[in-house]
Amino acid sequence: MAKRHINTMLNEHKLWVVKQLGSIDVQHQAIIPPQTIDFIATHQTYDVIYQQQEGRTRLKEQNGRIEIFGDTQDKEALRYVLNTWVKKKGKEVLVPWLDDVAQEMGLTYKQVSIRLQKKRWGSCSTKRHINLNAALLFLPDYLVRHVLIHELTHLTHHNHSSHFWQGVALFEPDFQKNRQLLKQYAKDVPLWLTQPFDVGLDEAVREDT
Ligand SMILES: [Zn+2]
Repeated sequence: MAKRHINTMLNEHKLWVVKQLGSIDVQHQAIIPPQTIDFIATHQTYDVIYQQQEGRTRLKEQNGRIEIFGDTQDKEALRYVLNTWVKKKGKEVLVPWLDDVAQEMGLTYKQVSIRLQKKRWGSCSTKRHINLNAALLFLPDYLVRHVLIHELTHLTHHNHSSHFWQGVALFEPDFQKNRQLLKQYAKDVPLWLTQPFDVGLDEAVREDT
């Protein structure tokens, strides 16, 4: 067989090939619904239990554990309830944290919203609206603080001028180091937050055995 045919065939049957190669490859490449959720920022870990059940998919949090009831094969529904919950936790944790740092810096903002975004940790508009990414929960606390100081400094400087960075340095002298670390730690944010699941839960469990 000509080499180009082999490549075409491999591409066409990629998933099948990967599966035939064994479970390890699938596990490392596939994005599957999480079994645990680890908020590094607050040192909170939640086990996630999936319960196959009729009816609308819903999430219950109890005693540091999450239970999801519904169709465990409905990846979009699973993603929706998990993401909604992460945003809720983000709001609970990040809003008071932002208020504390704002107070420390002697600044006031007008409005804050918590979202899940692929590319930005936060933003601050000229209308003094601050937007924070709930994925911050998956970073160490000093990097969350780094992002909060950054966005709050934008209340005074709506750009990344030298004045802006001087403003940041007043509250975070080693901001350069943390800026680099932030790029590294971004890789630790679980992929399921922003990417669709490749594999359903049963399929993933089957690959485990
Ligand atoms: Zn900025």
